[in-house]
Amino acid sequence: MADNATPWKCGAQAFVIENAPICDLDDTENPDSTACAMLLDLPLVPLLSRPLLEPPPSPTPRNFFIADAGIKGAGMFAVELARDIPAGGLILVDRPIAVVPSSVTAEWKREAFDALIPRISPVSREALLALANCKPLEECPVVEGIALTNAFQIDLPVPPLAAAQEYGGVFPNISRANHRCGLNTAIKWDLASFSVSMYALRPVRTGEEIHNQYIDVLATRAERRAQLARYDFECTCPHCDLADEDAVARSDAARAELRDWRQLHPRFLPWSMDMCRPDDTIIDSSLRALDLIEQEGLYGMQVPFIEDVALSYAVLGDESQFREWAQKIVDLCSGQDPTRAAKFARWIENPQSYKEWGWRAKQRLVLDKRKDISDDIDISIPW
Ligand SMILES: [Zn+2]
Repeated sequence: MADNATPWKCGAQAFVIENAPICDLDDTENPDSTACAMLLDLPLVPLLSRPLLEPPPSPTPRNFFIADAGIKGAGMFAVELARDIPAGGLILVDRPIAVVPSSVTAEWKREAFDALIPRISPVSREALLALANCKPLEECPVVEGIALTNAFQIDLPVPPLAAAQEYGGVFPNISRANHRCGLNTAIKWDLASFSVSMYALRPVRTGEEIHNQYIDVLATRAERRAQLARYDFECTCPHCDLADEDAVARSDAARAELRDWRQLHPRFLPWSMDMCRPDDTIIDSSLRALDLIEQEGLYGMQVPFIEDVALSYAVLGDESQFREWAQKIVDLCSGQDPTRAAKFARWIENPQSYKEWGWRAKQRLVLDKRKDISDDIDISIPW
């Protein structure tokens, strides 16, 4: 069997199995295995060989549980807590149990994927093998089948000429979240701590199923169904199980409009300096986008539109509306995008510190004054 000394060859490239330096909490003294084994292109190995930062802690007590989700198999649910998980709230932090290239066609594929299993610690191995596998064993080795069913793409520092350009991570908990075409969570991968954090995109009610997306959710229903066929999965979510063809056309049109929004609608920056356009142009168009987002459950897209509404109120000098919308950014982004959250928190504290604060309101005043003056001048012809 190949090992690090005799890697699996793929043309001029070679793959090896490496253990990520992650321990299971209850299995810290296992010398030959860690909580995560990785099948890597050899040039990637030195780029990942560095001490890992500790990931941020998951909320305690746990605010999710795994349970039967009907025909979808197991699923992830919000624990019945006294209150909902708030929009922007951290649901959990998870580290991978297997990292594999997205596509391997070499004849040693089965041998290499099977060799991952003994390199994973018993606790994590049990979690890995408990995950769903939509691929028959004759077609795919078990770990590849599980990865094709459950893995999320993770960004690794892949060298440009590496044999594999994309990698997927299989996670013990987050991989349990089932697909839905309008989702309630977002995940964020952090290479430095080799962990994924899952955040609520809107309030998640107690007991509600926690979803993730496996495919391009801006595609039409027909395209989504075709993409999901590779998971051997027919989506019956409320965004797919629609009453009639009119409802399908309405949903497809909403998703297409959101996909092409920036090409179809005025943008904040040019509007902010263009006094020929009405003051409510961006607010109106962003509110429409937010309505479509709510209709289709595409909450992962809401931040730029909320930001445009907040900044529109900033250039219009409307302090109370600005604070209200800016606070939504702070709540949504404090975990996922802390830099953005901090920027808006500073502006909430002192709105005038936004450098274009009230600019349009001042220009509008000047224009109105000029108009008044020109209205007062008698330009009628005296004969
Ligand atoms: Zn669906």
